[in-house]
Amino acid sequence: MSRREELASNLDAVHDRIRAACDAAGRDVAEVGLVVVTKYFPASDVRLLADLGVTDVGENKHQEAQGKAAECADLGLRWHFIGGLQSNKAAAVAGYADVVESVDRLKLVPGLSRGAGERGAVVDCLVQVSLDPPGAGGRSGADPAQVPELAGAIAAAEHLRLVGVMAVAPLGEPPLPAFERLAQVAATLRADHPEARMISAGMSGDLEDAIRCGATRLRIGSSVLGTRPSIQ
Ligand SMILES: *Cc1c(COP(=O)(O)O)cnc(C)c1O
Repeated sequence: MSRREELASNLDAVHDRIRAACDAAGRDVAEVGLVVVTKYFPASDVRLLADLGVTDVGENKHQEAQGKAAECADLGLRWHFIGGLQSNKAAAVAGYADVVESVDRLKLVPGLSRGAGERGAVVDCLVQVSLDPPGAGGRSGADPAQVPELAGAIAAAEHLRLVGVMAVAPLGEPPLPAFERLAQVAATLRADHPEARMISAGMSGDLEDAIRCGATRLRIGSSVLGTRPSIQ
């Protein structure tokens, strides 16, 4: 099987899972967008995916993302930055990312807005919410109590648009209750910012639970591209 055929077949299987999960949840499949996470895989795969109809790709490391976005600039893809972000890299990330899904602290906002403005763009931002028990450390994300202030700062930034929340299911807990908590955080956010409707949740292992809890965007890597090299 060629790489193209392999990716096509994996994509079909993911779309089947999404359809089945939407049916089970009584949701319209058109409400659920797909970002294919291409981290660790070459630009040649991004090119094949674009040819197979993928419109949105996700990356989690600045240097890798910047290089691939430049190499694939002719494809008209939307680039989602989904990784941990250093504040001194924020402006650079907003120089190529159309969407930054991992805004988890106030310090990132000025740099993101400046980078977007320098490029003459408006960058969509999601507040990354920690679904870990308070004080657990570990995964990144704003504590739910910090979301209103962070969301307000994004909404007030000249070159940023607040579009919703993003989260990764915590380790050591089933994803469903965590995604239910995320849905609550998202509902609270929408009360203040009705336009911020996006809920980015669900990866290869838990997309069904995410769809059940109202996710409107999935970030799928390994189910489309295959197993990544060991370190993440
Ligand atoms: C890598 C990554 C994904 C994709 O994970 P898979 O399990 O490979 O589907 C989704 N979201 C984030 C934030 C990631 O870093």
